[in-house]
Amino acid sequence: MYNGAILIGAGETRAADTFTAVNPTTGAAGDVAFSNAGPAEVAKATALAAAAFEVFSTTSLDARATFIETVADNILALKDDLVATANAETALPLARLQGETGRTVGQLKMFAAEVRAGLWLDATIDPAMPDRAPLPRADLRRVNVALGPVAVFGASNFPLAFSVAGGDTAAAFAAGCPVVVKGHAAHPGTGELVARAIQQAVASCGLPEGVFSYLPGTSNELGGALVSDPVIKAVGFTGSRGGGLALMKIAAQRAEPIPVYAEMSSINPVVLLPGALAARADAMGPAFVGSLTMGAGQFCTNPGLVIAIDGPDLDTFVASAAKALTAAQPAVMLTPGIHASFERGVEELASHAAVITVARGCVGDGVNQAVGALFTTDATKFTADEALSHEVFGSSSILVRCKDIAEIKTVIAKLEGQLTATIQSGDGDEAAAGELLPVLQSKVGRILFNGWPTGVEVSHAMVHGGPFPATSDGRSTSVGTLAMARFLRPVCYQDTPDTLLPPALQAANPWGIARRTNGVLELGK
Ligand code: NAP
Repeated sequence: MYNGAILIGAGETRAADTFTAVNPTTGAAGDVAFSNAGPAEVAKATALAAAAFEVFSTTSLDARATFIETVADNILALKDDLVATANAETALPLARLQGETGRTVGQLKMFAAEVRAGLWLDATIDPAMPDRAPLPRADLRRVNVALGPVAVFGASNFPLAFSVAGGDTAAAFAAGCPVVVKGHAAHPGTGELVARAIQQAVASCGLPEGVFSYLPGTSNELGGALVSDPVIKAVGFTGSRGGGLALMKIAAQRAEPIPVYAEMSSINPVVLLPGALAARADAMGPAFVGSLTMGAGQFCTNPGLVIAIDGPDLDTFVASAAKALTAAQPAVMLTPGIHASFERGVEELASHAAVITVARGCVGDGVNQAVGALFTTDATKFTADEALSHEVFGSSSILVRCKDIAEIKTVIAKLEGQLTATIQSGDGDEAAAGELLPVLQSKVGRILFNGWPTGVEVSHAMVHGGPFPATSDGRSTSVGTLAMARFLRPVCYQDTPDTLLPPALQAANPWGIARRTNGVLELGK
């Protein structure tokens, strides 16, 4: 169970200043007093993380993978408690939370397998060439090493898969980095349960206690102190653009600036091409609304923008989407603050002179409920006001009517960076899709055909990233095994005695990993 403690290494402590969880369905405060961690707890946690770094970053591949698997098993053992607690704290449905537990556990196990495979080390050997003329070449051996202790900010919209033991934490552990989590105040009981599961795994695997600490809290001061701490070498964050930018600024102003991998805002354009509209305009309406309203629209990949060429087929799609949205039930949002911000965003669009409201969802009688919203405008008006392309976090979308493919291209070219773009295509659309792909590719991290953007597979090839402001650094991903790369850096050893080299680079290849020698890939055992 949880009791509102701050978990620092193997210990737990309490603070005089406390906060309570809020049940968003009722608006009622919970009865557990959660400690508000502050700068003093940050200092203790990071000191332990610094002390743990050398041992944790140099474990064998098997020891590190076993630790990550133990975290997964401990979380699985808590499943019923976890799902019930998260349901009360976030209002996310039980089935969704059961699925998210599976995703969290599966994600950890995938990172464990990735650690064992060893490809992430990118072990590369250029043997010495003593006889090369005019100059001999030294023996050069490169390997990826852990960056250092990482600060992770739990996300509100994935209380399991993107929070305490979510993708950022799993990737940092896999890379060999101790983690200090700033817990999200929207699900403190859930956060503490998971944190205790990790704390137990650290102990049972015999790792130094500073591999993990958990700092719950509600103050910006806590997050600021964590990012400013000189021990911290990188930050993983999912949340608002304002929050991400604030942390990036703190990181950049440190005596030693560090990278902040922040996933922030995206409206995930969906382009409906003429062939798709001709073939299935009516069927696409409910499918789109399903994606828009799923989870009260609280997905970073929510389809907040639809772009298409005007005409009767588009009218059919709009009528079909409006019908589906009008019947859509309201859903409770994660927090009163997120709900208030959704209402504000929808009101700004509804009262905008260039925007027409197409449909709203059903209104309920509970608190903090998102009522879906679909708006429309044309390309000229959309591109004239940047505010129309700002993310409204929740089930709100705007449809932009264009004259032709060239105008669709202009609309896309004006967008900021995005996590995803979707093309709905049908017969005769190949040339148009081919014309749009270069501009889409320059804007997004993932391009989908004939699907809907919500739903992100955790896999090796996944990219859940994209140019700013989708993320702070479009060269990386926060979902999938490539996420480890954010917490690694390359080191080259020159003419180093074999016994002093890291195992990944030793002549006998004791870990049996794949390596490149003189540029040629040699498969491992
Ligand atoms: P948030 O306000 O950005 O908060 C996320 C985390 O960052 C919290 O732990 C918060 O802690 C911390 N934080 C925020 N601003 C900070 C600052 N200036 N200094 C230090 N720490 C800071 O996100 P949220 O509470 O999850 O949701 C609010 C809004 O974020 C939503 O309405 C939505 O617009 C956006 N959001 C986007 C995504 C996405 O996937 N793109 C996901 C979730 C939310 P404290 O507030 O306790 O200090």
